[in-house]
Amino acid sequence: MIPNSTDAGLDVVTFGEAMMMLVADRPGPLEQAQAFHKRTAGAETNVAIGLARLGLRVGWASRLGADSMGRYLLSEMQREGIDCSHVDCVPGQRTGMLFKGQVSDGSDPPIEYHRQGSAASRMGAQDIDGPWLCRARHLHATGVFAAVSPDTLALSRQTLALMRGAGRTISFDTNLRPSLWGSTEVMRREINQLASQADWVLPGIEEGLILCGERTPEGVAAFYLAQGARLVVVKLGPEGAYCEGTHAGQAVKAYVPGFPVEQVVDTVGAGDAFAAGVVSALLEGRAVLDAVRRGAWMGARAVQVLGDTEGLPSRAQLQEAGL
Ligand code: AMP
Repeated sequence: MIPNSTDAGLDVVTFGEAMMMLVADRPGPLEQAQAFHKRTAGAETNVAIGLARLGLRVGWASRLGADSMGRYLLSEMQREGIDCSHVDCVPGQRTGMLFKGQVSDGSDPPIEYHRQGSAASRMGAQDIDGPWLCRARHLHATGVFAAVSPDTLALSRQTLALMRGAGRTISFDTNLRPSLWGSTEVMRREINQLASQADWVLPGIEEGLILCGERTPEGVAAFYLAQGARLVVVKLGPEGAYCEGTHAGQAVKAYVPGFPVEQVVDTVGAGDAFAAGVVSALLEGRAVLDAVRRGAWMGARAVQVLGDTEGLPSRAQLQEAGL
């Protein structure tokens, strides 16, 4: 697999909003923070970076403002070897950004988004280059970009429909952002509708209660399998994950334990790292349990660093870990 592809034959394509992230340099309320570390953020781009570091050919389609934040994000993605031929920098539109605090007790850090009306939020189904998309082997989609605006929801629906129609595989991380949706009911309906179009569905256990009314990993998996998913992997935080379904003719139903970590620095990005691990391994033809183990290891690395992407391993680091 050759990184930096700009034409046909990508392994994975993803659509999503990238944001510039400023992470406070020490714990405490955000309003008291004086200095920040600059990083990239965005669920889909985190996964894209994770896949690209492992040598997969990845395409990311998006829109940025023609501002310094947009140029920063674009150069970071290009540096990772991601095909950005479908990223537009639009004059007069803004790039989204966020502030993230630090915590010292392993809890979820405070996050303040400034993304409303951003360039990416104005993308719609008309921005999809269907032939480019459908030449890829796989689409990775998340509930985040679907939540950003009615137009990105339409775009999300259309990308899944096109890839499904082309017979490609699709992974979908439910990735709930309740504050971006009009109501819980709408969020539940739209996310479950998108999930019903995917082959591999990756919900978190707490999301399962909101989306499926199920408290157990088995209940959440049964819900999405009944909707048409072929494989469901339910994320369980430090406990690891539960997977159930069929892949490459093999039925699977198993718990995969988490990798213990000494200190949790920042929980954000664990699910994206996990998705990159699972998706990369499945696309390489690995067995489901190996794929979930890789995801769990990558998720465990992600919680030990401040940003969302510095824990994402290279192929050499993965091989060193025997994964
Ligand atoms: P989450 O979205 O929090 O469930 O995290 C995604 C994945 O990352 C989990 O399924 C675990 O495999 C891994 N993970 C998350 N938190 C931890 C943790 N505290 N320790 C070890 N692994 C973790």
